[in-house]
Amino acid sequence: MNYKNKHYYEINLLIQNDYDLAIQKLNNIDNDDISLIILKLKAYSKREDHYNKALTILNNLPKNLLKKRIYIQILKGLIEWDLDKALQLLLNIYKKFDLTNDDIKDFFNKNINYDLLFDIISYKGILLETNNINNYDYEINDICPKCGIKLIKKELNNQSLNKMINVIESTKFNKYKKKYKLFLLNSDYNIIIDGANILYSYNGNICNKSIKKLENLYNECILMNLKPLIIAHKRHKKILNKFKFDIYYTPYNINDDLFIIYGSLLKNLMILTNDKFRDHIYHFKNNNILSIDLNIWKSNKIVNYNNKLLFSKNVSHIAQKNENIWHLPLKNGKWICCKD
Ligand SMILES: [Zn+2]
Repeated sequence: MNYKNKHYYEINLLIQNDYDLAIQKLNNIDNDDISLIILKLKAYSKREDHYNKALTILNNLPKNLLKKRIYIQILKGLIEWDLDKALQLLLNIYKKFDLTNDDIKDFFNKNINYDLLFDIISYKGILLETNNINNYDYEINDICPKCGIKLIKKELNNQSLNKMINVIESTKFNKYKKKYKLFLLNSDYNIIIDGANILYSYNGNICNKSIKKLENLYNECILMNLKPLIIAHKRHKKILNKFKFDIYYTPYNINDDLFIIYGSLLKNLMILTNDKFRDHIYHFKNNNILSIDLNIWKSNKIVNYNNKLLFSKNVSHIAQKNENIWHLPLKNGKWICCKD
């Protein structure tokens, strides 16, 4: 840690332990590096009497620095002394940035309008990491064991689905669309296996273990009466040739994920993968696809695996209000029921 970082680190600790001293120190440093700006925002947002300083910093920041972590510092500060202002800030920014459990967890166990917060959690597809509400969580296949209410599987409407298909077709995938579409439309697969994701699932290397895993997962699909299609890159043909898999090989110079996502959208297929498709999700967002639609699609269609397939696709693992009772999804696959 260099001197500057060490100094900032100490101030960061002081913000918790000796707030006034932290403010005093911060007032005496005048730098424009981003770490200091963030530290100042964090400290100044925490108390009403310094909040104007935070706003001044914010208003003077160039647009390219107005990133999520800037707003989150202010949000976390505000939560400590003005919940309404904090919630208002969250409402202003939630569409612009990805949000996680960490960003919103401080709102729990406070006196706020939970409908607003839970709507945001639902829209952003946030999975909670800990049970902030009560100590009980439930496995829900479709009916909640606590309140007896049936949870729902949200579906994408056709307009959103077509918009997503158009986004993929606007990439260089378009060149390969005709052949692939014809292949899919004449088939009856119901799950795509992301070949590369499984082949590279051991430390990022293809090995006998990972090839075996692909074989096992393929066979497990068949045992579950599913009809799997592996999508893999042409360069893996040599390795996969000896198996009797149904495989579609994707061409060189194009990302095979595009075939996987497109297939899922076009024919409503599940995808077996642990990939988060981050680049593509980003691309969808840049093309005005709503987070809620992406989350519905991911929640309904992506099946994760460890040594086995992990899935319950009966309900969308997205916060939902059913008959006036909120159900919030946890990262571990379980649910919180908000019935009193
Ligand atoms: Zn319930």
